[in-house]
Order: sequence, then structure tokens, then C-alpha cells
Amino acid sequence: MRKIVTILGARPQFIKAAAVSRRFQQLGIEERIVHTGQHFDQNMSSVFFEELEIPRPAHQLAIHSLSHGAMTGRMLEALEPILLDEKPDGVLVYGDTNSTLAGALAAAKLNIPVIHIEAGLRSFNNQMPEEINRILTDRLSKMLFCPTQSAIENLQREGFEHFAIDMVKNGDVMQDAALFYAQKAEEKSDIIQRLSLKNFALATIHRQENTDSLEVLKEIIEGLNAIHAQLPVLVPLHPRTRNLIAQYHIPVRFQTIEPVGYFDMIMLLKSSKIVLTDSGGVQKEAFFFGKHCITLRKETEWVELVENGYNMLVGSNPEKMQQAFDQLITKTSDFNVNLYGSGHAAEVAANYILAH
Ligand code: UDP
Repeated sequence: MRKIVTILGARPQFIKAAAVSRRFQQLGIEERIVHTGQHFDQNMSSVFFEELEIPRPAHQLAIHSLSHGAMTGRMLEALEPILLDEKPDGVLVYGDTNSTLAGALAAAKLNIPVIHIEAGLRSFNNQMPEEINRILTDRLSKMLFCPTQSAIENLQREGFEHFAIDMVKNGDVMQDAALFYAQKAEEKSDIIQRLSLKNFALATIHRQENTDSLEVLKEIIEGLNAIHAQLPVLVPLHPRTRNLIAQYHIPVRFQTIEPVGYFDMIMLLKSSKIVLTDSGGVQKEAFFFGKHCITLRKETEWVELVENGYNMLVGSNPEKMQQAFDQLITKTSDFNVNLYGSGHAAEVAANYILAH
């Protein structure tokens, strides 16, 4: 394939695209990016294009702040004429957002091969919108690039070896990005000095299952407040979570800041003592930068982190959060283990795409 249309729209997808787009350029693959607009703020979108030097989108759809059905439907409708006009050899989508599903569906309906990067992940929790998006996207895809062995096994259990598809274990493109930008982040980010940070825990909260229920969100904040009494907690706060905390006057004792760019985020991860998060990407980045992680969910798609003792799942329960904190804060682990491809995931995927 020589011409690819990439469809993206949410923060983690910009970081994945940074790794893959660079490889496309090196191989001479023509890439046209469509930004659906799902994330649109300067600090949730533009900052990543600027810092990570991602090619400017050829099309901007500006579709956001809608219900799941309306957003996915509007994207589907807007993508169809673009794909008819661009006539790509393949359409590339990342991860599990509404932009992923809309992109895959628009392409599949036009008989354009769908390439899914980060295929095969499952939480086995159908209440998550992400789980629905990833199951359907995988089923519509022609080329499935799986980050882990467990992702391959998930697809095999669902019978994918009987379909006319290519299943490739390529590793995790987020590790490529983390390794590539780590040195640049040291040079460009001054967040540690600017905020006078020393010993601290880094936390992020944004997942819908944690923000949809006020009770669950309050429990998580209560747990973080308690940990903050032992070790200062810093939270770059997702806009959705910030709005809910303000709307319901939830008492917050830890420090919150606006979402940060990727260079600042890398420095926060590198300098923290421990990470607490409900983010998929941040769980892995904690591992990449040698930090233990407490995951504020009941399940994870990144099961190898839990199996190898780097990550503990606590849901939203403050007591479990505290127990995991006490256990992990003193633990030493060898993080020098290859779970995610060691920085070659984008290269493997791009070479494969060019050859097919
Ligand atoms: N991230 C960032 N700034 C922040 C919070 C997160 O750059 O303030 C990055 C983080 O390092 C990771 C990605 O955004 O690379 C994760 O995105 P998010 O947590 O929104 O989505 P998920 O990974 O859960 O799909």
C-alpha cells in the first residue's frame, strides 16, 4: 500500500500517530490525515501536533461534544465523501474511540481495507464504549496489528484465524513514542522546576466508567485525598473530570493542573514515585519509565503489567487504593523486560503495510 488515509481524533491517537507517521514518511508512504475533532482544545489536541511534529491534517471535521451515537454517525457521514475523493489503498485507525469505529465503518462500507493499530485488546466489559468500538473495529479490519501476545490470543478465541485477514504482533507504538521523545522532553520541558516538584504521585482520571457515576468519582477523589496526606498527589485534570468536580463541589485536597503536553507528561512520569490512573496509555507509560502503577479500574487490557507485578487493579475503592499504595511504594522491580516490542512497533507495521 502506498497511499493511506489515517483517521484520528483523540489525545492518545495523536501520540500513536507521531510514531507511525514518521515511519510512513521514511518509507515514502503518502499519508493523508483526517482529524475528526473529537478532542479539540489546544491542550488536548494542537499541542501534540506542534510538539510531536505530526503532519498537519488534510481534513478537519470539528465533530465533538455530542452523544456517542450522534458523534459516531456524524463522523461516518462526513468521512464517506473524503474517502471517495482521496481513494486511498488503506484506511488506518488507532485504538478504540468513536473516531476509530466511524473510520473503520466508513472505509469497510466502501470496500477500502481497514488497518487497525492496537487490535485485539479486550477488557471483557461491554459497558465500556471503548470495548464496543474495539470489537467492531477489529471485525471490520483487514490488517490487525496487535501490541501483545494476549491481544493475539483474544482474536484467536474469537475465531479470527478463520477470517481472510492479516494478524501481526508488532508491539506497542506508544513505546516507540515514549522512547523517541524521552530525550527531547528532558530538553524542552521545565515542568518539574516550574512546579517545584520533588516527591510526588502522578494521577490521571478521565474514563467514562469513573466519571459517569458521581459516587464512583467521589470515591476515587477520596482515595487520592487520603494518599495525598502521605505523598503529594499531582493530577493533570481532564476537562470532563474538572467540570464534574466543579459542578458537584467535590472536595479536592491534592494539586490539580490543566492537561499537559506530551513532553511535560513524560517528565512528570519520569520524576514521579508512583502512578495512579484509569488511562490505558498512562498504565503502559508508567512501565516504560520504570514506575509502579495503581489502576483505578476493575480490569485492564494490559494484563501483562498486572501478571508481572508492575500494576495493581483497585477499581474505585479507597481502601484498596491505600493497600496497593502501601505495597507498591516500597517495592523494587526490574522494568527492563520486553513486553511491548522495545520501540520497533511502528517500523514493523509500516514495513508490513508497504509490502502489502
Ligand atoms: N497525556 C498527556 N497529557 C496529560 C494526560 C495524558 O500528554 O495531561 C498523554 C499520556 O501520556 C498518554 C495519553 O495522553 O500518552 C493517554 O491518553 P488518555 O489517558 O486520554 O487516553 P487512554 O490512553 O486512556 O485511551
